[in-house]
Amino acid sequence: MTDRYQSLIQNPIAQFLVKNIGLPNPPELKRWNGGPLVDGTVLLGGSSDGLLFGSLPQLLKNDGIETTTVRAEGRRYAGLVFDATDLASTRDLIALQEFFTPVLRQLASCGRVVVLGTLPERTAGAGAAIAQRGLEGFVRSLGKEIGGNGSTANLVYVSPEAADAVDSTLQFLLSPKSAFVDGQVIRIGTTDLADAEEPAASDAPLTGKVALVTGASRGLGAAMARTLHRDGATIVGLDVPPLQGDLETLMDELGGTSIIADITADDAPTTIADQLGEGVDIVVHNAGITRDKRLKNMKAENWDKVIDVSVGAPQRITDELLDRGLIREGGRVIGISSIAGIAGNNGQTNYGTAKAGVIGFVQELAPRLTDRRITVNAIAPGFIETDMVQTMPIGIREAGRRLSSLSQGGQPIDVAEAIAWYAHPGSGAITGNVVRVCGQGFLGA
Ligand code: NAD
Repeated sequence: MTDRYQSLIQNPIAQFLVKNIGLPNPPELKRWNGGPLVDGTVLLGGSSDGLLFGSLPQLLKNDGIETTTVRAEGRRYAGLVFDATDLASTRDLIALQEFFTPVLRQLASCGRVVVLGTLPERTAGAGAAIAQRGLEGFVRSLGKEIGGNGSTANLVYVSPEAADAVDSTLQFLLSPKSAFVDGQVIRIGTTDLADAEEPAASDAPLTGKVALVTGASRGLGAAMARTLHRDGATIVGLDVPPLQGDLETLMDELGGTSIIADITADDAPTTIADQLGEGVDIVVHNAGITRDKRLKNMKAENWDKVIDVSVGAPQRITDELLDRGLIREGGRVIGISSIAGIAGNNGQTNYGTAKAGVIGFVQELAPRLTDRRITVNAIAPGFIETDMVQTMPIGIREAGRRLSSLSQGGQPIDVAEAIAWYAHPGSGAITGNVVRVCGQGFLGA
């Protein structure tokens, strides 16, 4: 799907008008297409008392990312990482201003800001809990200030026990893989889940893993299947009978297998479990539908179907796979929520309920699976350019694109990269998270 406004304003005359009339000027976002994760140097800030400050240079060097702790005038930085884990009072928060204010003008376009904090509930004392919680407001506001040139700001809360489980998250957040992830809060080590594992091969971290993706024939699901396959996974794609041809074409391309099923059918859990007889490592419950109507005009079947596709069927399928021991130790269950499940959306009471239900599914299941080392997380996409958003009225569609910090919609790859980050062997200490891929917009399908 294309954003015609963004294509039209690329010529010099249109750019002149955009700047003088004050129209939205969406930056061209960089996406990863192989090569180094970070193109340039990352400046590290924080005090040596921080949980991660001492280990960051070596950690990032191992990922091929160049860092420095000394700011040089006139130099551009691809990323700024600040270790705020030791901030213990509201007075200490001045350290953020002292580090960021002088350097923000040196942040490259599509630059990355990552703040590292300590989980507020794991701090000692009220001052630290308040200061750490304050970091959320800081990154969400900074994200809005720097989005104009495609830059993003995100916060990673780490528990003291999970200090060595941040690598996959830093790789994701510092690279163009997180192009549309902005103003988010990621929580690592909220449970006593086993630590992150080293992937067998850094360029194919999912080698040997089997990934089930529902709704895989098109849109976000197809991008997820392609991206998990790129990272080494064997794909099992699922879709409804009318899309059998599209699904099989994609699975042939990826060397995967197809399951043709309606996930809401009574026999879907057993059909899927039977076909995954050898087990599965990654389950992405991506299938979803919209049937928008204001509640006063809502038909019962449209209420029911939307909720059952998004959350009822995923719950039944997950239960069947778990009961039969088919989700392997170290597995990943990933739900797809939506901004509508967080902020609500006019005409989407059914969908908003379903997508908030996905968050409930994650929060209820995550703590129950730590003993099997299975993580359960969700992505909440905002406005992403797929067939689904083409059904929106044009006014709402345009607002959905422009009312984000990056003044554009995301691409399916942006959601797919976030799925690949959850699936990464190094993300084993991340569970119960709901991360928005929305460019800090609050409108989406
Ligand atoms: P899409 O309509 O392009 O694709 C959805 C896929 O799910 C289709 O292949 C469809 O056949 C499949 N599906 C639907 N019902 C099914 C069923 N009963 N059984 C099996 N498969 C079924 O939509 P998309 O934009 O790619 O959305 C993918 C997911 O992301 C959905 O859960 C959607 O709610 C969510 N989402 C999308 C956006 C967005 O902006 N596109 C925003 C937020 C959330």
